[in-house]
Amino acid sequence: MSEHRSPAGSTSVPVTGSQQPSAGPEPLPAAGPPRPPARPRRATRQGATVLAALRASPSFRSAQEIHGQLRAEGERIGLTTVYRHLQRLADEGTVDVLRQPEGEVQYRYCRSDEHHHHIVCRVCGRSAETECPELVGWAERLAESLGYSDVSHAVEVFGVCAGCRAARR
Ligand SMILES: [Zn+2]
Ligand SMILES: [Zn+2]
Ligand SMILES: [Zn+2]
Repeated sequence: MSEHRSPAGSTSVPVTGSQQPSAGPEPLPAAGPPRPPARPRRATRQGATVLAALRASPSFRSAQEIHGQLRAEGERIGLTTVYRHLQRLADEGTVDVLRQPEGEVQYRYCRSDEHHHHIVCRVCGRSAETECPELVGWAERLAESLGYSDVSHAVEVFGVCAGCRAARR
């Protein structure tokens, strides 16, 4: 590792005539009470409810759809809360996040922890998971040829599933 970035632009700091007097160090918070646990119980239970709704569906679904289903089942949960749990589950890698070509974000519970891709039906949202041996090699070669390292990739494939195709006839 020999390359070092120099700071962009000049390093001289403009000195203004009236410098603010330092207010001194930030007052440290006194040894207060220990932080409360990050998540209250209720949120955990609602998180489990959101996860259960996802597990019951083979299709990618939007936060609005999941919220609507939970409300219809009598769950008292707000859309913002649904979003928050979906975001956390996505961060944990428990659910996959899919961005439709039209921009809608959808979520689906995934049984695979491994890196994988989806082929998604544009009509009904049903999806299948697939590995990507060809893509890995292609992405690595592309990145190397352009001088990039630490390569990752994200690809989703869309189409019309056999069931939807049959229903159209
Ligand atoms: Zn998946
Ligand atoms: Zn379909
Ligand atoms: Zn891949």
